[in-house]
Amino acid sequence: MGWQAIAGMEEFIKMLTFKVIVAASVSAALGALFVVAELFTGGAVQGVSASELGYGYGYGYGYIKSAHTEIQFANNTVAPCFSGTPPCFGQVVPAGSIVHDKATLTSSDATLDPTGFVVFGFYDGNAHCSLDRATSHETVTVGGSGGVTTAESSNTAPLAAGDYSYKAVYFPDPAAQARGFRRTPAECESLLAVGVGVDGEGVDTVIHFADHSEVPCFATACVGRVAPAGSVVHDEATVTSSSNDLTPTGTIRFAFYEGELNCSLDRATSHEEVALSGTGGVATAETSNTVPLTPGDYSYRAIYVPDSAAVDHGFRSTPSACEPLEVSAAKSS
Ligand SMILES: [Zn+2]
Repeated sequence: MGWQAIAGMEEFIKMLTFKVIVAASVSAALGALFVVAELFTGGAVQGVSASELGYGYGYGYGYIKSAHTEIQFANNTVAPCFSGTPPCFGQVVPAGSIVHDKATLTSSDATLDPTGFVVFGFYDGNAHCSLDRATSHETVTVGGSGGVTTAESSNTAPLAAGDYSYKAVYFPDPAAQARGFRRTPAECESLLAVGVGVDGEGVDTVIHFADHSEVPCFATACVGRVAPAGSVVHDEATVTSSSNDLTPTGTIRFAFYEGELNCSLDRATSHEEVALSGTGGVATAETSNTVPLTPGDYSYRAIYVPDSAAVDHGFRSTPSACEPLEVSAAKSS
């Protein structure tokens, strides 16, 4: 995911590249502005490979070695990743958070700064930057030195619960183009603002053995579960609507934490997104099975992500409680 351009972009980029090579770079800059206008205000989206857009064309010039992006809170701390490192499977913030996006461009050569600007597209109601057009966009001049430059979007309003995403695209200025830099899009950044669902739904989870029997609870309130060494398990999430006539649709994002009982690591060991299925107001999803687990601490967390039809019915992104799992040393007999 992440490498996107408008229909006809490949031809346009070829033309743009031609202009960079043979004509004044000013005309290319004007072309880049045209790309910005079309990329974020309309047109069908199609993939273009990284090699066509992300790198220089030889001559020993600089190119963008990495275009790192991360979503930050207003105080510039990084919003937690649901799993992975930014840009990660998705970042998660509480509803009401104020955020912005930060792009860091690293040159292949520390003596060549990637100057120019970054266009940030912001998508409201979509976690995958897959809308034809962004909800809003912003152009920010990059600053920095030593081959590393950065740009940050301005802060959002407090976010309502739901899906959002950012997409940042680097556009070199004429000086940077002369140094070999080319237009470089970053990966789509998914953001989930979690809050209590307005439709009253909840997410319940149960850790199962491979045969779908329930892993025993450590205590009556099931503050945690205990399985013998060598157990193969998976997690099941159930989303229950307040109405039997409205069955929740969408996906569950499951995160699995190894060496951690409290889901408190910045990043999960692994993650999985599974479509919900069900009827009568109740829908479920299950992860795939683990490998046989060695003794130690584990945990699961699930987040319900409604699709657009469910959002229209009032469902909102909803996290489960963290599910601690202790795998005991005693071997099952
Ligand atoms: Zn199961």
